[in-house]
Amino acid sequence: MNESSTLDTLMKMLMKSTGDRKKHIINEFEQKFQLHLTQIRDRKNPSHIICPGCQQHGHVILYGYANRGKTRHRFHCKKCERHFNDHTDTIFHNKKLRNHLYPFLEMMLNGISIRKTATDLGISPTTAHTWRHAILRYIEKNKETFIEILSNEEIIESSTSEFKPSRKGLPRHLDIPSNTQVLQFQCNRQKQFYLTYLSEGAIKPKNQLIKGKMSVELAGTPINTLQTSSADRLLHHSRHVTELNQQFADAYQRMRGVAQPYLLKYALWYCLCAKLSGLNPKERLHSLLLLCL
Ligand SMILES: [Zn+2]
Repeated sequence: MNESSTLDTLMKMLMKSTGDRKKHIINEFEQKFQLHLTQIRDRKNPSHIICPGCQQHGHVILYGYANRGKTRHRFHCKKCERHFNDHTDTIFHNKKLRNHLYPFLEMMLNGISIRKTATDLGISPTTAHTWRHAILRYIEKNKETFIEILSNEEIIESSTSEFKPSRKGLPRHLDIPSNTQVLQFQCNRQKQFYLTYLSEGAIKPKNQLIKGKMSVELAGTPINTLQTSSADRLLHHSRHVTELNQQFADAYQRMRGVAQPYLLKYALWYCLCAKLSGLNPKERLHSLLLLCL
């Protein structure tokens, strides 16, 4: 059996199991799919171990181990006195339920709801919610590694959506922002995606709000001023970005809106999913793990 079908099988077993059996499957998941510490270190510190405190190298010494099994080194920076290890400033930092992260990420890739994920993994919905947002923060931090900044000449497709700000997820003391948010998905000939984000339009009446329409005018000014030749448009239409935009709009509907601070993060997540969709399940999971460092 190859590793990708092992992954599918483990996911199915996980959903059906309870108690110790569930714990056992989660551990098996970790053993089969975890990143090695060298992979984490190569990604974060390709040449030298850099101190996460003062961002320098050359003052860092080995300083015992960070775990009981003595597999993960602890480091000490003699310059700023900070202690750290390979998990510092990654999604793995300080997670009591670290092994749950692997199936958690797989469920997130499969679009499974927070509630169902929490039930299937035997974690609280609050924990699941915190993890999801932590993952989205890492994805945003590392966005340059999966989306390309496209020049105007390169863009052959674009799709623009305007979102009305909502009360959802905003702290009580904050007012609902008075601006709409505008997201534009862009795509070049190589099907590389980019996303721009504007937040400057005044609120429009509800019947004028546009979702997933091409070429939007905002406060009288066209946002979509990116011209492509008509031949390009005929050849390429807007299949890829509209699809992406539609996926995002559908997800947005299911979530019944997201808080303003998370809109871009969720949109980036959909860009990432489109990018990873060509990979096999194991590669997909590993690529996501590497983005959470
Ligand atoms: Zn330091």
